[in-house]
Amino acid sequence: MSGPGDVPVIRATGLVKRFKGHTALDGVDLEVGRGQVLVVIGPSGSGKSTLIRCLNGLEEADGGEIEIEGTPVHRASQADWRTVRQRIGMVFQDYSLFPHMTVMDNLCLAPVRAGHHDRDRARAASAGLLDRVGLRHKADSYPGELSGGQQQRVAIVRALAMKPRAILFDEPTSALDPEMIGEVLNVMRELAREGMTMVVVTHEMGFAREVADAVIFMDQGRVVETAAPADLFETPRHDRTQAFLSMIL
Ligand code: ADP
Ligand code: MG
Repeated sequence: MSGPGDVPVIRATGLVKRFKGHTALDGVDLEVGRGQVLVVIGPSGSGKSTLIRCLNGLEEADGGEIEIEGTPVHRASQADWRTVRQRIGMVFQDYSLFPHMTVMDNLCLAPVRAGHHDRDRARAASAGLLDRVGLRHKADSYPGELSGGQQQRVAIVRALAMKPRAILFDEPTSALDPEMIGEVLNVMRELAREGMTMVVVTHEMGFAREVADAVIFMDQGRVVETAAPADLFETPRHDRTQAFLSMIL
């Protein structure tokens, strides 16, 4: 098959990022096709967060190229990055909801500000999104009144409220108590099933095996290995991948 449908939603080529002489990304390539789920694993400090942050302009890469749906954005202006961030959602480990705003206001803020919806339509759309994650009854609560798992589900639908082309997740369940991890992974599983394009940094290997189309293993700022989950978990090609998996599995 060929044609515009083949253009990856996100493509990075030779990404380099340095912090004061320390090389956090050392020539990273990746590609995420429409509807694909790419899981990124690797030890602490291997550059996973830096990679995700570069992909939506929260960090400026020092080298390489980033294309979003075929459009190069690496050297884009701040205004262009704002447009990218409206199309590429982001979910962080710490939820990053605005604590002084209700759940409903958290959800409506970006769509109203971006001019997607007026307030009434944004509220209606947000109520529908809260229904999807079973939290309609929390619309008027503040984030501090919710459990971690509930806050993260709100953070996910907040990203969805912008109708993004892809969502980037940086360890979305790492701050959660064990009993709340499942409810967040279920929402993510559902999104994947519906065809959302996702890049997910996670240590949840069960999720990766089940949901990922491809898994990237990173170490010291490089992609050591990319493979289908079954291959990467069962027959890793590199010693470093094996060593990492034997520590966490
Ligand atoms: P991971 O998410 O895989 O744990 P990070 O991307 O957070 O790794 O970090 C990769 C490397 O870059 C680490 O050595 C980290 O200390 C460094 N780093 C990340 N962010 C910064 C920053 N803002 N300033 C300086 N060094 C940073
Ligand atoms: Mg990280």
